[in-house]
Amino acid sequence: MPLYEFECEKCGHQFEELASLNSDATPTCPECGGQSHKLMSTGALHIEAASPLDRKPDAKFHDNMNKAMKRRAVAAAACPGKKNGSCSGCTNC
Ligand SMILES: [Zn+2]
Repeated sequence: MPLYEFECEKCGHQFEELASLNSDATPTCPECGGQSHKLMSTGALHIEAASPLDRKPDAKFHDNMNKAMKRRAVAAAACPGKKNGSCSGCTNC
């Protein structure tokens, strides 16, 4: 049975409860005993919460890689000895 998130209509308390997909029955609030309504499944919530965090470092990493490679390409192209092989040990080529 999947975990669902419920919100109390009386006090707004949110809690997780195992519930049947086919059942419309909602559990009562563990805080005040009031009627609750179903929010989205916690599975969907976790995916939503995790994806921006997963993407950020990745995008930043690729961004830094691109910047570093561009800098290196520009520096190598600027080396006067690169074309005729007379470079005497610059750090760029
Ligand atoms: Zn409540």
